[in-house]
Amino acid sequence: MIIYGTKAKELAHQTLFEKCPTCGTQNSVEMHVFQKYAHIFWIPFFPIGKTAVSQCEHCKQVLKPKEMPASLKSEYENMKLQHKTPLWMFSGLAAIVVLIGLAMYNGKQTDERNAKWILAPQAGDIYEVKTPDKQYTLYKVDEVQGDSAYFRVNMYESNKLSGLADLKRKGDAGYSEDVYGVSKKDLKEMLEKKEIVGIERK
Ligand SMILES: [Zn+2]
Repeated sequence: MIIYGTKAKELAHQTLFEKCPTCGTQNSVEMHVFQKYAHIFWIPFFPIGKTAVSQCEHCKQVLKPKEMPASLKSEYENMKLQHKTPLWMFSGLAAIVVLIGLAMYNGKQTDERNAKWILAPQAGDIYEVKTPDKQYTLYKVDEVQGDSAYFRVNMYESNKLSGLADLKRKGDAGYSEDVYGVSKKDLKEMLEKKEIVGIERK
């Protein structure tokens, strides 16, 4: 369950010189300006807009912006301009931008690393492979000779990439005894075609 909603934080309050529109008392109307913001699990996400209420100390009348006469409304507009939206109200949005940036950076690093590894296979390398019928399995490099890598194919498959973790837990027992050879050039092509979707090296 995601808990979200809006909250308001008071930015400023000020006693106005203007007369109260109802009882006519001077210096008795206090204007409170609020910044509204959206939160998710009480973490401020992004600001929504400002609002205000005025209250007369004398007759206790409370007015929302829509109910204020022009004189009070222009005071509210002035206060709005003077008090900027605090940056912390963008916290959630900023965190998401940072996380997306990090994920993109990590993805790029992994792609570059895999492009290097595929050209220089090592015994023990595990390739995460997507099969033509959209299943996932593992190839484990047994040895490398000259231009080719010789690997054993895992006997199990998963319909999800995340399911490969189970195959890895089975260890060497999960791989067939048969050994297949593939040239480095073909391996590179498999990586580029995203038939090899990941490489694990100890
Ligand atoms: Zn009043």
